[in-house]
Amino acid sequence: MANIIDGKLVSAGVRQRVAAEAAELKAKGIIPGLAVVIAGDNPASKVYVKNKKKDCAEVHIYSEEIALPGSVTQAELLGVIEQLNGRSDISGILCQLPLPEGLDEKQVINAIDPNKDVDAFHPFNVGRIMIGDYRFLPCTPAGVMELLDHAGIEIAGRHCVVLGRSNIVGKPMGMLLLHRHGTVTICHSRTANLKEITRSADILVAAVGRANFVGADMVKPGAAVIDVGMNRDQNGKLCGDVDFAAVEPLACAITPVPGGVGPMTRAMLLQNTLTAAKLQNGLVP
Ligand code: NAP
Repeated sequence: MANIIDGKLVSAGVRQRVAAEAAELKAKGIIPGLAVVIAGDNPASKVYVKNKKKDCAEVHIYSEEIALPGSVTQAELLGVIEQLNGRSDISGILCQLPLPEGLDEKQVINAIDPNKDVDAFHPFNVGRIMIGDYRFLPCTPAGVMELLDHAGIEIAGRHCVVLGRSNIVGKPMGMLLLHRHGTVTICHSRTANLKEITRSADILVAAVGRANFVGADMVKPGAAVIDVGMNRDQNGKLCGDVDFAAVEPLACAITPVPGGVGPMTRAMLLQNTLTAAKLQNGLVP
C-alpha cells in the first residue's frame, strides 16, 4: 500500500504560509497584486482564471482579470502587457494560455517584465532555472517538489525519470530534480525502451497528457510516482497519466488525480505572486 500524497493538504499549508507572509507585507504597506490576462472565451481558461481570483482573495492578494475579446490583435495584447508592466500595484502578470489562434504566444511571454513573470515562462527566468539561481519556478514542477519534500522522499542520488519534455512541466521538472542531486532521465514520444527506463525509476513523474498511460508494468516496486496528468477518460471523468488502481499497490508513494499535483499548481502561483511583490519592493535580492 502506497502513501497517498495529499495535494489538498500540502497546498493548504502553502496557502497558509503565503497568507501569513502577505499579512506581514500588508503591515509594511505592501499588497501583492496579480493581473490575469485572458483573451477569448476558452471555457477551461475561464474556469482557471475564476479559480485564480478566488485563490488570491483567500490569501489577501489583490487580483485583477483583464478579459480581452478573441479578436484582440497582437499589438493590443502587447499594449495591455506593457501597461501592466508599468503599474506599481501589480506585482505579477500571467497571460492565460493558450491564446486565440493567430496570436504569438512567445512574443507575449517575452513582453512580460521578468520580475513580474509569475509563470516563470520568460526566457530570462528559464535561464535562471537552468543555472539554479531562480526567484520564480514554474508552478507545476515547483508544486511537485513540495509534494516530494512533504512525503519525505529522498531525491539525491536516486534515479528520477520524467515522462514528458514540455517547457512548462517536463524540462523544468528535470532541472529541479537535477539541482537536488537526482540522476535524471527525461523521456518523450521518441524514447526507445520506455518501459525499461521507467521501470528503473526510483521517482517517476508522469507529464504525458495521456489517460492512464503508466501501468503497473512501467513501475518499479517501491517507486514514488507523481502524476501531473490532467485528462478525461472515456466517460469524461478527470484522470491522470497513471493507472492509479494498478500502480498504487506497488508504489511507495503516489499522488491521486484529482487532489494531487493540481492544487499544488494553484498554490505555487500564489507563492510566486508573493515573491514578485517582495522582489519589486527590494525585499529579496
Ligand atoms: P505537452 O506539452 O503535450 O507534453 C507532453 C509530453 O509528453 C511531450 O514531451 C511528449 O513527447 C510526451 N509524450 C506524449 N506521448 C508520449 C508517449 N507515447 N511516450 C512518451 N512520451 C510521450 O503536455 P504538458 O503541458 O507538459 O502537460 C502534460 C500533462 O500534464 C497534461 O495532461 C496536462 O493537462 C497536465 N498538466 C497538469 C497540470 C497540473 O496542475 N496538474 C499543469 C500542467 C499540465 P514529445 O515532446 O516527443 O511530443
